[in-house]
Amino acid sequence: MSPITGNLLLDALSPALQAEILSLGRTIDLPTRTVLREQDERSAYAYFFYSGVASQVVTMAEGGSAEVGLTGHEGLVGATDLLGPTPTPSQSSMLMPGSALRIRCEHLCPLFLNNSELRGRILEFLQQQSIALEQTSACNRLHQAEPRLIRWLLMCHDRSRLNTMSLTQEFMANMLGARRTTVTLVANSLQERGLISYRRGKVTLLAHQELEHAACHCYRVCQRALRNLYQ
Ligand SMILES: [Zn+2]
Repeated sequence: MSPITGNLLLDALSPALQAEILSLGRTIDLPTRTVLREQDERSAYAYFFYSGVASQVVTMAEGGSAEVGLTGHEGLVGATDLLGPTPTPSQSSMLMPGSALRIRCEHLCPLFLNNSELRGRILEFLQQQSIALEQTSACNRLHQAEPRLIRWLLMCHDRSRLNTMSLTQEFMANMLGARRTTVTLVANSLQERGLISYRRGKVTLLAHQELEHAACHCYRVCQRALRNLYQ
């Protein structure tokens, strides 16, 4: 059995392959807002997260932005650049601080192409991300702010393993493409019902089961894809 690193993908690899990948990179700390990959640029590095959460955000040419993905200890940022030549339209930056194994993509890519075990695990991870992207695209178009905010908070929790998360209302509004006043109303309502506490930019999830019931069905779809990883 491989040593436990804290990254679910690395921990699912056979010991020899895990050791080879660990030898290719080094562990770095990633403070909040660190940019890992610019919009419309290919990644120089892949980041396998031990802790922390990165957010993928698309900014439109005319202004305005929306979050399109979250990545935490279940996988890595930079995987899409292993698939082909086209850069992705999102910027990836740290939503919550953490640490990661950083590897140059030019070193990871040959291993991805030649090692079927690594390729299989990374493709599994990308399938999970693709499922979450499909479901949340429909969610953001069709569902109300409250179930969407709860779904997003639970997804942040699953990826960070943190019960208390530093998230300003302005930031949550940006992530959800909602007005700040809407986020304030929803957060106040959830707090009054004892589901979360919200103080000084810190959200604490108080009642997981109730929150899961109050989230839209989209959370279950994303949660199932996450739980099916690396079986
Ligand atoms: Zn939804």
